[in-house]
Amino acid sequence: MQLQDKVIIITGGGQGLGRAMAEHLAARGARLALVDLNQERLDEAVAACMAAGSEVRAYLCNVAQEDQVVDMVTRVADDFGAIHGLVNNAGILRDGLLLKVRDGEISKLSLAQWQSVIDVNLTGVFLCTREVAAKMVERKNEGVIVNISSISRAGNIGQTNYSAAKAGVAAATVVWARELARYGIRVAGVAPGFIETEMTASMKPEALEKMTAGIPLKRMGRPQEIAHSVAYLFENDYYTGRILELDGGLRV
Ligand code: NAP
Repeated sequence: MQLQDKVIIITGGGQGLGRAMAEHLAARGARLALVDLNQERLDEAVAACMAAGSEVRAYLCNVAQEDQVVDMVTRVADDFGAIHGLVNNAGILRDGLLLKVRDGEISKLSLAQWQSVIDVNLTGVFLCTREVAAKMVERKNEGVIVNISSISRAGNIGQTNYSAAKAGVAAATVVWARELARYGIRVAGVAPGFIETEMTASMKPEALEKMTAGIPLKRMGRPQEIAHSVAYLFENDYYTGRILELDGGLRV
């Protein structure tokens, strides 16, 4: 798919990787619907993308809420007249060990911690994909859906919730690629390793240092490198049902 003039929704487009994707795709001529929870950050992202000469609109929407997603996708389709692409990028971290034992006291990972991450990182991806795919079929336009998974989908200590959600996203990518190919819709994923964003900036410095030392390329990835991969997945018409790993060689 050529990016020029295509209408693409990016969830979590207000900051971090989503913002980098937005600026990259805008520079390539895509028309963007940026979805996020924070109006101020959305406005900044919209201004940055418009400076690249692109048509960009902001949509406040919690991807974990079915009614909000249905409404947002309908509004995007009406505002732009089509939807050709979706990047399921919005995501959160609520890390914690399943059990912590100190002086014989056991503290447990709460159901709320588990559920919040599943709601945003997995249910949000399901809801956005379902609504966007339905709109593409309804309007008979071909499309591409890109899901942001993670290296943690293989299982990362302290991330029961996040690993489960990202593994679910990777599996669903394969399912949806197979189910939606007949409608001209490709579904692919990117599994970033550790990338320089606010999400990783919130990690403890010692943990970050240890992590970087274990990466064969000895540095974290850059948001622009993820954005570059997302653009590649849009443009390569033979790529579907697979997860592109972008982790500096970290995964063994
Ligand atoms: P980030 O800087 O925290 O940005 C995520 C964005 O998503 C934020 O703007 C956030 O808004 C928004 N968001 C959160 N919950 C939402 C919801 N329910 N509905 C709509 N928007 C919501 O994170 P990032 O590092 O750019 O990560 C982007 C994606 O890449 C995530 O899926 C993450 O799991 C994945 N990833 C990141 C890394 C990395 O190293 N950074 C590695 C692997 C995978 P608020 O800030 O207002 O909550």
